[in-house]
Amino acid sequence: MSARVLVVDDVLPNVKLLQAKLTREYFDVVTAFDGRQALEVAHQQHPDIILLDIMMPGMDGFEVCELLKKNSATMHIPVIMVTALSDTSDRVRGLEVGADDFLTKPVNDVALFARVRSLVRLKMMMDEWRLRQQTSGQLGVMVGDSSLMDAPTRNARILVLDDSAVDIERIVETLKLDQHEVKTARTLADAMDHAASDEFELFVVSLTLLDEDGLRLVSQLRSRESTRQIPILLIADEGDLQRTVKGLDLGANDYLMKPMDRNELLARVRTQVRRKRFQDQLRRSYERSLSMAMTDSLTGLYNRRYTMAHLERVIQSIGEAGKPVSVLMIDIDHFKNVNDSFGHSIGDEVLKEISVRLSDNLRSFDLVGRLGGEEFVIIMPDTSLENAMLVGERLRARVAGKPFIVGSLSTQLEVTISVGASVCTDPEEPVDRVLHRADMALYAAKNAGRNKVVADDVDGGSAASVAGA
Ligand code: GH3
Ligand code: MG
Ligand code: MG
Repeated sequence: MSARVLVVDDVLPNVKLLQAKLTREYFDVVTAFDGRQALEVAHQQHPDIILLDIMMPGMDGFEVCELLKKNSATMHIPVIMVTALSDTSDRVRGLEVGADDFLTKPVNDVALFARVRSLVRLKMMMDEWRLRQQTSGQLGVMVGDSSLMDAPTRNARILVLDDSAVDIERIVETLKLDQHEVKTARTLADAMDHAASDEFELFVVSLTLLDEDGLRLVSQLRSRESTRQIPILLIADEGDLQRTVKGLDLGANDYLMKPMDRNELLARVRTQVRRKRFQDQLRRSYERSLSMAMTDSLTGLYNRRYTMAHLERVIQSIGEAGKPVSVLMIDIDHFKNVNDSFGHSIGDEVLKEISVRLSDNLRSFDLVGRLGGEEFVIIMPDTSLENAMLVGERLRARVAGKPFIVGSLSTQLEVTISVGASVCTDPEEPVDRVLHRADMALYAAKNAGRNKVVADDVDGGSAASVAGA
């Protein structure tokens, strides 16, 4: 994993030492010697992670971290504070201003590299979501401008695995201070049961179990789709660096050494919960924007762009077997009259009801799209023109057969549709042509008096096979 690391320290030998160690591990290292320069380099060089000294003349590390986390261009870069301070209150203060971890000088190499690797992995995942969010933005979909530090950190659902009653009680009591909703497990099996049946936002896993290995749980949680994205905080014995590092490599997100400091536990939990919630927010907003880019907001049907792309794929997959693809082009009759007589919002309701009547009773692999206005299309893979006509007739009857009841006054409306059908058996035929043939058939249905289903005449000549009322 090649990543760019920014090392910030006012003491040159410290910078040189870290730079040498990291370069040896094939990281790309950039440096800064005071707070202001650190901010500058962070903006210009886009590091994947920042190792930040706290005690620096002028702007100290806390201040630098706070500024980095406030700025939308740099807030996603993980920050590890590296310092001679070993007081827990400093540690907590660092986490509170948004630092992701805290390492004490002299830095233990194994811990440092494990930490850097795990945070770089996390950042890459966040970068991916941010990229997708930007793409949705380019599609013209509004996406909220959310900030990591704004994500709430209390009331999280947390599962704690520990086999010591005393430790569990201490952890639970501490977590309650932030109103977290805590479930506990004493064995791995118990923990997996909970994880499978409940939704959690964080797992706290003890590595000091007497009969079992907490690392096994880490590996199981990471191998399951449903728990892969949920952060894991390890609790380890002070000397047990080896297994802590193993845990981080297996996918745990953070760790805490015993004897456990309450404030540090709270601060680390907040950091994980904040990240998880921010990430969920990004994902939800991406999914929402994706669905907005594919669907029509009035009816929820697929929009023109998606429908066209889908038809193209379906036609291309006709393949050797030459299984026919049929298309129904549908247009509401005299729809303008509905708008003119009852108003646009009643018209909208008719469009929604039509969408429901068209969508029901189709096979799961048939697709209904709204091409625009009061024009719909149905794409049916592996369907002959004959069968398409039957479907068209059924849909026509479903619309004409029962009046639409719309609006607060429960207005009853007679609505009819005209349908044109075409079939395609040639994977080379352009989408436009297939649609155009259905359109011509639709035109014929309108000319024949509306409320009719007409098939495109494949053998040339004008459209034929008038069906319907
Ligand atoms: P025809 O039987 O020949 O199809 O007649 P028509 O009146 O349905 O056809 P025309 O294309 O002249 O009119 C379509 C109308 O559909 C015009 C437009 O105001 C209305 N329309 C298009 N999109 C919407 C919409 O999203 N909501 C509403 N309420 N009306 C719409
Ligand atoms: Mg119409
Ligand atoms: Mg029209």
